[in-house]
Amino acid sequence: MAGFLAVVLVANLQLVSKPPTISVTVLDDAGVPPEWLRQAKGELERIYREIEVEIVWWDPRRPESQGNGGTVPQNLLTVAIRRNSTSLQDALPENTMGIASGTALERGRVAYVFYGQTEQFTPLVRGRFLGHFMAHELGHLLLPQYSHSATGLMRARWNREDLERAQHGLLRFTPEQATLIRSRATELAAGVTNPPR
Ligand SMILES: [Zn+2]
Repeated sequence: MAGFLAVVLVANLQLVSKPPTISVTVLDDAGVPPEWLRQAKGELERIYREIEVEIVWWDPRRPESQGNGGTVPQNLLTVAIRRNSTSLQDALPENTMGIASGTALERGRVAYVFYGQTEQFTPLVRGRFLGHFMAHELGHLLLPQYSHSATGLMRARWNREDLERAQHGLLRFTPEQATLIRSRATELAAGVTNPPR
């Protein structure tokens, strides 16, 4: 009996210690300098690691090098970086950092981020802010519709204080959003596409 208990305990511990993972691919159509793109991805990873979600980057140009037999991971999410919004939608408000696909019933799989918006910032922080834009738009793919909040990373518009927080790595998801994202990530990893809400 004691042996049986020990096995169960170990199994539970493993469950608790392993954060859910999200497979993400980045399609850069804006020609972001590699250094800034690397920085942006690192920043996004950090933001999600803080809420205990692990990001796994999938590179469509090197599918065979990434295990999985070269097949596209199930429930892959895409962050597409565009120079600006013109090719997508004319009616977006000025200074829009990006848009995400999806409806009330079905979360989308593609988020767009507009790299041109980072050019108002000093080059020193462009990669970092791009990572925050990406983390915000990816958040829309994981949270219910209309998921903007009054505080934090999911604010609809960022003011000077928000940007300062971002610069110091302090612009985050709220605890409620973190819980929702973790459970959505767990669903995605389990192959659940659109659970009833
Ligand atoms: Zn938003």
